[in-house]
Amino acid sequence: MSKVLLEGIHKYFGAVHAVQNLTLEIKDCEFAVLVGPSGCGKTTTLRMVAGLEDVSQGTIKFDDEVVNSLPPMSRDIAMVFQSYALYPHMTTAENLAFGLKMRGRPKSEIAEAVQRAAALLNISELLERKPRELSGGQRQRVAMGRAIVRRPRVFLFDEPLSNLDAALRVEMRVEIKKLHQRLKTTIIYVTHDQVEAMTLANKIVIMNKGEIVQVGEPLTVYRRPTTKFLAGFIGSPKMNFIPCRLLETSTGSLAAELPDGTHWNIPDDRVDAYRPYLNRPLEIGLRPQHLTLGGPELANSQYLESTVDVVEPTGSETLISFTIKGHVMTALGNPNVAKNPGQR
Ligand code: ATP
Repeated sequence: MSKVLLEGIHKYFGAVHAVQNLTLEIKDCEFAVLVGPSGCGKTTTLRMVAGLEDVSQGTIKFDDEVVNSLPPMSRDIAMVFQSYALYPHMTTAENLAFGLKMRGRPKSEIAEAVQRAAALLNISELLERKPRELSGGQRQRVAMGRAIVRRPRVFLFDEPLSNLDAALRVEMRVEIKKLHQRLKTTIIYVTHDQVEAMTLANKIVIMNKGEIVQVGEPLTVYRRPTTKFLAGFIGSPKMNFIPCRLLETSTGSLAAELPDGTHWNIPDDRVDAYRPYLNRPLEIGLRPQHLTLGGPELANSQYLESTVDVVEPTGSETLISFTIKGHVMTALGNPNVAKNPGQR
């Protein structure tokens, strides 16, 4: 187990500045998830920590040791890839044992480590099978088993669940979380799936265009996103954005004017903070679950009037799409008060 420190990291691929001035501390036993849209530099960052990619500028430390020039073998890390990367001609037991065998560990120690990892991952029954005789989920367990037999300082996961179907992804997500709780190791995990990131991380690191845009506990980032990009990226279904303008009312209070002319009063405790934005073009961010569906009885509250375009029931909840002057919005409704297309 180790603390990992990245200080002022840059990575250039020719003219592409893939990672830009990245500084990040991952504490001992922390589960850090790097998340962001495709091409934001998360895999490159992980590969630099693994030693599979050179660092153009900056320092990577494990505890207080600078590891920039250490080859991957000497970093004492274990990496789990999206592709599993199992040896096809070896059985599960041989795949699990391979890393320890290469390091010349005694046979009894290897056997014990293989049994322990197999029991932990529920693959003891599969030890004699070759990868082609395993399902995708089972292969992924073997790939994780191969990482944990060695008790490395740091685990690195690169989109490990991407090849699994939706149900299995949820199941394996729980397994990985349990594994972290039992093994108490430092994990750095890369995904483009923000739900996976939210559910797994103690520390979520959101990247965009090669830079870190926010680091924090998942719920803090969800509740207090620092930018519009973050507000739209974290949370499912996504936050709605609608343009507005702040106006002063005849009573000296403030109101937000929406594109359809609706006025929403700004709560008194926000008026001072919002006053500098008077008469400037702004956007309101509204999470779908914060919109309540209703009828004419809502006319005296902060309401929006529109016609239901699309109704998407998922069982536990129902998504309702509508537009306000061409801006598509989504509300998350109670399935028992579901609306129909065309209804106001
Ligand atoms: P994804 O989720 O699609 O895997 P990512 O966030 O992991 O994306 P990276 O793979 O780290 O993104 O890539 C970051 C940037 O660096 C991209 O613009 C990519 O095209 C570029 N890049 C990555 N590897 C190389 C390479 N070997 N040569 C040139 N450019 C590269």
